[in-house]
Amino acid sequence: MTQFNGSCLCGAVTYEADCEIQRVVNCHCIDCQKATGSVHTTMVFVPEAGVTIKGYPSSYTHTADSGSAMTKRFCSSCGTQLFSINSRRAGAIGIRAGTISQKHLVTPQLNIFCDSAVPSTPMDDSLPKHRKMPG
Ligand SMILES: [Zn+2]
Ligand SMILES: [Zn+2]
Repeated sequence: MTQFNGSCLCGAVTYEADCEIQRVVNCHCIDCQKATGSVHTTMVFVPEAGVTIKGYPSSYTHTADSGSAMTKRFCSSCGTQLFSINSRRAGAIGIRAGTISQKHLVTPQLNIFCDSAVPSTPMDDSLPKHRKMPG
């Protein structure tokens, strides 16, 4: 089990996790670019049951290209995005890597939606690159 914690910018929403990290993904899709305001997002996927959230994040749900309902959970005070949940991946939660205190745990394993990557984005060539969502 890996233990880590994190918070939003203002500290109104915090979390603690005690679970195995399933996957760490850099996502370059347009939705992530818009939602985070950055050129890509890095998400640390863990079992939702292993995460305890304190505070009251707001949520926004939209439909992805895949047809999945994607829910972003964010701090309504400072706007930090903390979590994302995909309706097709029951039981998993993606934690926005920048909110995690233990930076050494953020070790991306692959890049997805590279077709829409901002051309100047640095990428680790040793990691798999998928043009879209890997099948
Ligand atoms: Zn906040
Ligand atoms: Zn994305």
